[in-house]
Amino acid sequence: MTSFICPHCKAFSTFSVVWLDNSRQAGPTSSTRHGASRCNNPSCSKVIGGYVHQSSGEVNDWWPRHVGGKEFPDVPEHIASTADEAHQSLSIGAHRGAIALARAVVEATAKDHGITKGMLDKKIDEMAKQGVISDAMKDAAHEIRFAGNEVAHADLAEEPITKEDAEEVLALMDAILTRVYQEPAQVARVRQRREERRGGE
Ligand SMILES: [Zn+2]
Repeated sequence: MTSFICPHCKAFSTFSVVWLDNSRQAGPTSSTRHGASRCNNPSCSKVIGGYVHQSSGEVNDWWPRHVGGKEFPDVPEHIASTADEAHQSLSIGAHRGAIALARAVVEATAKDHGITKGMLDKKIDEMAKQGVISDAMKDAAHEIRFAGNEVAHADLAEEPITKEDAEEVLALMDAILTRVYQEPAQVARVRQRREERRGGE
């Protein structure tokens, strides 16, 4: 039995062979085959491909090594998981999917602050008005919205969306989440620790 960090769930896990190509040798030795193995973490159960020892089921090499998500610990779970999925999409070359999800993250951030009325452009302006985001972040949010609209209306997207385009849009999304959620939480933690050190002073 092989144990390693599962690229999907990031848990140290064991893997069970679910499929083995016994028709030919593949991989580093005569006893390895192409195979698919399932993560034994019940909350994951995702499959990886790899070189598998034909009798022991030991995984000699596997892919993907990394599923390119991103963690946002201080962001509300439903927004963080959408942002993570945007990064996962980018990591497999799903550029339009990544941008569409980034747009959804902006919309969800507005809703999380009680801004639910109107189209996304109005919601972004309202977030800036209420001080949820700065003017610079407002411009970033509008750029994400424009990119998302381009993706949604494929007839407008005559130029293909490149990896660089998607990376830049996700960088703007990350900046918004950092400013709105991550930095205030970080400040609060530093302040709390300082106050604890001061004791009853
Ligand atoms: Zn797993």
